[in-house]
Amino acid sequence: MSGVTLTKAVKKYGDLEVVHGVDLTVEHGEFCVFVGPSGCGKSTLLRMIAGLEETTDGQIAIGGRDVTAVDPADRGVAMVFQTYALYPHMTVEENMGFGLKMNGHPKAEIEAKVSEASRILKLDQYLKRKPKALSGGQRQRVSIGRAIVRGPEVFLFDEPLSNLDAELRVDMRVEIARLHKDIGATMIYVTHDQVEAMTLADKIVVLRAGHIEQVGSPMELYANPDNKFVAGFIGSPS
Ligand code: ADP
Ligand code: MG
Repeated sequence: MSGVTLTKAVKKYGDLEVVHGVDLTVEHGEFCVFVGPSGCGKSTLLRMIAGLEETTDGQIAIGGRDVTAVDPADRGVAMVFQTYALYPHMTVEENMGFGLKMNGHPKAEIEAKVSEASRILKLDQYLKRKPKALSGGQRQRVSIGRAIVRGPEVFLFDEPLSNLDAELRVDMRVEIARLHKDIGATMIYVTHDQVEAMTLADKIVVLRAGHIEQVGSPMELYANPDNKFVAGFIGSPS
């Protein structure tokens, strides 16, 4: 079981507090979407869960284990970035297998996992290519593949589709939904796209200036927004 629990999680950069004691539970296998205006702390929260940012105060638990002070590599999470963050000098298969290779996994196991991920993501034809010879959508597939290969219990996505054109975004959204259905992992997904949030989420977390404004299913938030701010993001025009 690999739910994620934040307990009074605080982030400060120097004297500036940007996350103000957030309490949140993401259930095992849930697809949880963070929405909110630019600068409200979505990426910071995701990076705190990943362990890429230190948590100043409070706790983060994954699968019931306190990981607040645990190394990112040992948290059972994998993150997918907006910018893909691929290694330009490596081929698709090298990019996907790199994390496992660094952790000393045997070559045959890495090949099997890369092959499985590339089948899921329809990248079989492109394994020997370098990122520059791929389209934006294919590059993002590779970065998702790199996460899959690591077999994480929790996937973290930071606006993974915002660099893609509208048509491709729809295709990739469908693929991400299918991926979640197929592998059943817990997923936390940041977006500023209302349609992405409404269609992907089991649970939406509306953030504002470093705190949670409201949490609920897409229908709950749509039908019963607590206030105008939430309504403005995903609520009905009441
Ligand atoms: P979002 O992803 O919702 O757009 P961020 O999590 O990136 O927001 O940022 C939240 C707040 O933290 C913003 O006010 C931002 O300026 C601030 N912030 C983010 N990273 C740093 C940093 N390394 N140093 C100082 N302030 C930061
Ligand atoms: Mg961000």
